[in-house]
Amino acid sequence: MSSDFSRSNRSFRPESLMMSHGYDPKLSEGSLKCPIFQTSTFVFTSAQQGKDFFALAYGKRAAEPGEELGLIYSRLNNPDVQILEERLSLWDKAASCAVFESGMAAISTVFLAYLKPGDALLYSRPVYGGTDHFINKVLPDYGIEVIPFSASDSYDDLVRLTQGRPIRLIYAETPANPTNALIDLSMCAQLAQQLSTPDRRVHLAVDNTYMGPLWQHPLDHGADLVLYSATKYIGGHSDLIAGAVSGSLEAMLPVRTLRTFLGNMASPWTSWMLMRSLETLKVRMDQQALNAARVADYLKEHPKVERVYYLGHLTPADASYEVYQKQLSSPGAMVSFDVVGGESGAFAFLDHLKLFHLAVSLGSTESLAEHPYSMTHADVDDQDKIALGITESLVRLSIGVEHADDLIWDIEQALTHV
Ligand SMILES: *Cc1c(COP(=O)(O)O)cnc(C)c1O
Repeated sequence: MSSDFSRSNRSFRPESLMMSHGYDPKLSEGSLKCPIFQTSTFVFTSAQQGKDFFALAYGKRAAEPGEELGLIYSRLNNPDVQILEERLSLWDKAASCAVFESGMAAISTVFLAYLKPGDALLYSRPVYGGTDHFINKVLPDYGIEVIPFSASDSYDDLVRLTQGRPIRLIYAETPANPTNALIDLSMCAQLAQQLSTPDRRVHLAVDNTYMGPLWQHPLDHGADLVLYSATKYIGGHSDLIAGAVSGSLEAMLPVRTLRTFLGNMASPWTSWMLMRSLETLKVRMDQQALNAARVADYLKEHPKVERVYYLGHLTPADASYEVYQKQLSSPGAMVSFDVVGGESGAFAFLDHLKLFHLAVSLGSTESLAEHPYSMTHADVDDQDKIALGITESLVRLSIGVEHADDLIWDIEQALTHV
């Protein structure tokens, strides 16, 4: 899939390459855009070629210098899937990327690829509800011990928590949904290194859905794998479900191999849709962040708002300010806030929105609002919710690309009903 577009030695930025990278029009009748290769299988030119392709696919022979695996069957490889992966990997400067039919498919495949019976998983809490369910309701059935930690735990706390436990994988989601709590990734990477032995490497995997792939690059902070629900910012239009994992060739090999046999790769159609989304990723996310800053500043001054959770409001007096400075290049576009009046205050606000949609999910062009306590985090233990700051007053906003003045108008009028 090597690109014919490298007309100079300049190393273009990812946003400049999203329309062309990895695609050669000569291979597709000169079509400017990559076609949808809606096919299950590919024709070999000879029996010998089929034999050669399979020998490489199953590791029975090494690749010739510069040789890429030929097209065989769409569960193993497909041009739309591969070109998408090449483009997506540019944002995190990853050597390898694999796309999945959902974010949960990406996350569960990483867990199953890295954890075996008798292993232990250290994971940050809170995590996405589906991830929490997989960790606490599925992994223990496979003989895997799961140990949670939180953003407020220090390095020494983590050393104590993991003492004598057979940790194999550390999993972090940061910023945490819905409170924007931050986990220090270089601290986690240091712990992974500390817990590794020569014959047992501990890996660090990070769910970067909230910030990525633009505003936080976990691989630069020592992570081995970076995971996405591509349903969110990467897809960005609330019209598909997809996931992705990126990392080094070595870290990705078990993930890619398991994906081949679980068969949970993204389809050609979903991959084509995601390629289209990637062309506008940077302009969308930049605008969403600008709008979020306006909305957060407005909320902060409103008498019916008790507290705003927005990373752009952190000051040097906040414990997570240092992590924010070193790990993130933007405060992002997710804003949560406590409204006066508990659940009835939050519901009155949500029920009177005219431009925001009352829906879960995030990162898309349209602004969304939801009630984490009773919706996305309904399954989390009530006591845990309160400890994590997820109260009945909390509303979560995902800010889209509308005009900021219209979003603020909508919030203002909905708050009059609280
Ligand atoms: C939505 C989401 C997921 C799950 O992704 P799906 O595409 O819905 O399977 C995982 N992590 C985070 C942070 C999410 O927001």
